Amino acid sequence: MLAMTVMGWEADIAELPFSRHYLPMTLYRKGQLFLGWVLCVMFTFPIWMSLLQRAFGNAGMIAGMAFWLGHGIIMMVAFRCPNCGLSPFLSNKGFIAISTPWPRKICGHCGRDHQENDVC
Ligand SMILES: [Zn+2]
Repeated sequence: MLAMTVMGWEADIAELPFSRHYLPMTLYRKGQLFLGWVLCVMFTFPIWMSLLQRAFGNAGMIAGMAFWLGHGIIMMVAFRCPNCGLSPFLSNKGFIAISTPWPRKICGHCGRDHQENDVC
């Protein structure tokens, strides 16, 4: 019964003109949002880096660098194709894979469409 209610709500939401752009949350969409966040961090990099250095000295610089490098790891680990597990930021599963900052619309390994809705 609850599931039916939720499904009914989703159907209503889907009628709204903005819903196509915000719902559903696809892997491609998530990748785009993450990229937006990375760009924000990148452009404010000199600001928070100097703040960290002023507050904590060299330890702050190291923490800042670890925070920045962590984004690259998140790109590879947190975003995965539901079918094959390949990150949408990687071109293929081979030894030599091209990493792109922009998420791929189609999975480089299994060809899944990342613009399709997924459950997670
Ligand atoms: Zn895949």
